[in-house]
Amino acid sequence: MRFSRVAAAATAAALVLGLTACGGDDSSGGDAGSGSEKSFAAGTTMERLNKAQAIKLGTKFDQPGFGLKGLSGKPEGFDVEVAKIIVDELGIPEDKIEYVETPSKVREDAIINNNADMVVATYTINDERKKRIAFAGPYYEAGQNILVKNADTSITGPDSFKDGTKKVCSVTGSTPAEEIKKYVKDVASQLVLFDTYDKCITAVDGGQVDAVTTDNVILLGYIAKNEGKYKLAGENFTKEPYGIGVKLEDTAFRTFINDTLEKAFQDGRWQKAWDATAGKFGAELGAAPTVNRY
Ligand code: GLU
Repeated sequence: MRFSRVAAAATAAALVLGLTACGGDDSSGGDAGSGSEKSFAAGTTMERLNKAQAIKLGTKFDQPGFGLKGLSGKPEGFDVEVAKIIVDELGIPEDKIEYVETPSKVREDAIINNNADMVVATYTINDERKKRIAFAGPYYEAGQNILVKNADTSITGPDSFKDGTKKVCSVTGSTPAEEIKKYVKDVASQLVLFDTYDKCITAVDGGQVDAVTTDNVILLGYIAKNEGKYKLAGENFTKEPYGIGVKLEDTAFRTFINDTLEKAFQDGRWQKAWDATAGKFGAELGAAPTVNRY
């Protein structure tokens, strides 16, 4: 009796091991990330990129959790991971991505001037931008917030800028830079603009400004990277749905990206991308957004 139970357990263990080994073999046999000749309709951006086996990806290089160029020499973050899902569906190997830095102000121009085939860069979908380029997505919804030094109790939200005494930094060409103008008393003396958010962080550090304003998840990245130094001051006060920028008339590519996003929302790739990146910094991914096929 005793012997047969041990034997049964051993058999079960062997079975489990066997299955595990099979699973391993199966996955290593796949062609994920290796690129492949897929067939796309003639004349489409998908066909052009697949044939070229190369893609120019516009993203940020200075934003922890979304697109941050570190020791690897390649930007890393949620935007980059979302882009890699699309690149994989295009049948292009990951190492054929050419990363192009697209600070907030240059994103539309980068798309129009062919410097980037697509832009995935904490890029809020809005009507103004939709006049010049098109958006797939959204694939995430952020909201504008304010970062201050940990010890600061004088700034509690955007209304704290109304008395004209506090300085706030943001980035040229960003939606938060426009939005905060509704709250400051004097734009010229209170609003400082740079081309990237890391310069704003340096400015708050050095005391040239009191706060930085942009999307909560970008600020959470800086907070996480500088433990104990900064905090958010109050609640989100806008909605920033993140889209993927493509050429204005390129409906086929936009539809392809939207289809890919919907698949990735369902099959776990989107969640996995978040968990490995910005998800580590305390923000929630939430339910999958509804893509807007306008
Ligand atoms: N999501 C906002 C925007 O697209 C702010 C973040 C950024 O500047 O990238 O303008």
